[in-house]
Amino acid sequence: MTAERAAELLRGARHGLALTGAGVSAESGIPTFRGEGGVWTRYDPVKVASIEAFLADPAEYWRVSKERGRVALAARPNPGHLALASLEQGGHLVAVVTQNTDGLHRDAGTRRLIELHGSGRTVECLTCGRTEPRADVQARLDVEMPPRCKHCGGAILKPTVVLFGEQMPAAATREAFELAAKTDVMLVVGTSLVVYPAAEVPLLALRSGARMIVVNAEATPFDALAEVVIHGRSGEVLPEIVRLIDG
Ligand code: NAD
Repeated sequence: MTAERAAELLRGARHGLALTGAGVSAESGIPTFRGEGGVWTRYDPVKVASIEAFLADPAEYWRVSKERGRVALAARPNPGHLALASLEQGGHLVAVVTQNTDGLHRDAGTRRLIELHGSGRTVECLTCGRTEPRADVQARLDVEMPPRCKHCGGAILKPTVVLFGEQMPAAATREAFELAAKTDVMLVVGTSLVVYPAAEVPLLALRSGARMIVVNAEATPFDALAEVVIHGRSGEVLPEIVRLIDG
């Protein structure tokens, strides 16, 4: 019943917008931060994912990142990513705003993708600003820890992701907020909705009169605000919604 209602809302959407989080990539084998199996049960996030910790001990950051990077680079889009791309293709979504840094939405075919927390597919030199593909750097982590810039004589490299304590990318944030203010149907998938300002996106959509659909493995703080709440795996729920729209 709820999937039917979600399909009905998305079928009628003129400016549908999705916000996704780590949960949408869980079925691709990338661990989430929070929730069951979340990596924060094993690491202290502030120690491993803040700019302060990175600058204090880049080698320690890269030791954790090496393992996460290996998993993320090998991951492939799952049926949830593919369903979101198909919703955009069908005109039911205008864009996907994501907190994920894994690049899987683009691999799945999403064209208008707003990466609020940057991309893990590249790294940048903190001194000269040049970027390199993460895959190239990943290949030399066994012999170079922390990895250093090839171009400017050895400054430290950092993934182009937003760490705790860093600014969000201004253009992406502006674009996400503009889309949120215009959307009529806000689809929120696989996010615990506790990271701000990303969680502002659905709040802004609601204030602008949008109806909200939440698809998440467990309850979120925004469930009470949504018209449709589906607790389940995005790789199963989203393809079902697409089938209902197409059928
Ligand atoms: P989160 O880890 O805080 O929450 C993930 C949510 O997804 C949880 O509520 C969990 O119950 C739910 N979930 C787990 N498996 C699911 C599934 N199969 N289907 C649907 N829901 C599922 O994630 P967040 O809210 O995105 O915030 C975490 C932060 O960490 C973000 O800033 C993001 O940048 C970063 N992060 C990114 C990745 C990635 O790129 N894949 C992975 C981990 C963390």
